[in-house]
Amino acid sequence: MDKFGRPMEDLRISVIDRCNFRCTYCMPREIFGKDFVFLPREALLSFEEIERLAQIFVALGIRKIRLTGGEPLLRKDLPVLIEKLAKINGLEDIGLTTNGTLLAVKADALKEAGLKRINVSLDALDEQLFKQINDSGVGPERILKGIEKARETGLQVKVNMVVKKGMNEQEILPMATYFKDLGITLRFIEFMDVGQTNGWDYSKVITKKEIYHKLSEHFELEPVPSAYLGEVAKRYRYKGTNTEVGFITSVSESFCSSCTRIRIAADGKLYTCLFAEKGYDLRELLRSEKTNEDIKNAIVRIWNQRSDRYSDERTMETAKHKKKIEMSYIGG
Ligand code: SAM
Repeated sequence: MDKFGRPMEDLRISVIDRCNFRCTYCMPREIFGKDFVFLPREALLSFEEIERLAQIFVALGIRKIRLTGGEPLLRKDLPVLIEKLAKINGLEDIGLTTNGTLLAVKADALKEAGLKRINVSLDALDEQLFKQINDSGVGPERILKGIEKARETGLQVKVNMVVKKGMNEQEILPMATYFKDLGITLRFIEFMDVGQTNGWDYSKVITKKEIYHKLSEHFELEPVPSAYLGEVAKRYRYKGTNTEVGFITSVSESFCSSCTRIRIAADGKLYTCLFAEKGYDLRELLRSEKTNEDIKNAIVRIWNQRSDRYSDERTMETAKHKKKIEMSYIGG
């Protein structure tokens, strides 16, 4: 338990800090341009190091691991890592968050390796708008093909859409309709003040309440109770169907009090909050003479000291001036 009695239950591992998209609200090209220095290969945790950490975390009670990035499918041979993780006794669930660009070619290998679930990020169906957002010339068709392929292989798919005022609010209804018809859960994510480079401002946030209001003009929604402590999405069902829609309300209804997440960045730094300033260097421990027991004790000490509740305490001042790490580095 941490200082507020929150158990550690859910581990996210970033496997790479690079991405093939330059979404304007996440990795704007002005900052993540040609000269940006990403982590060198040897700075990334190896698959063996990630596997070792995963074993230690499972011994500490972690049952779910999600791989993310950057864009995790850019990490060479990712299915090899998934296969290693899938063999860990006691680990019940492995998920992956991806922009979907490489999904059509990689879905089979991922499923075969033992992946169960993927979350695909997609912020618009309109071709021009989607290209404008990802600033990389990729149209939505390619992502939709990836989703279709992933479903064919038997992977469970959810879609995540970040909604930002002035960027894509006109896509709320088309996206809801499209994924409702496919029977795929769509989750609307409030635009957050992660990192320092995305120009966040409260006036650019479209809240769950506003999105819900828009949806309920067209669909009848009924609430679905959360399945477990720490479930982040507020869930609803389209009445008369089994299809759900969800909201991640990190700004308007923060959920720090039930946050059970811990994160490892691509270089092995451990973070106890998405909005953290400081991480703990697990890579150094892994590459030293320390035993698994030593590393386990270090993690327990860090978790016991945890008192983060950034979203509960957010003000314009912290949003603008707190030196937070970037989403592409810590892993979304
Ligand atoms: N590349 C992968 C992807 O696109 O899903 C994984 C990493 S990405 C950082 C994870 C998620 O974070 C994406 O859905 C992205 O839209 C979301 N994200 C990035 N910046 C955000 C922000 N400021 N507020 C809310 N969500 C954000």
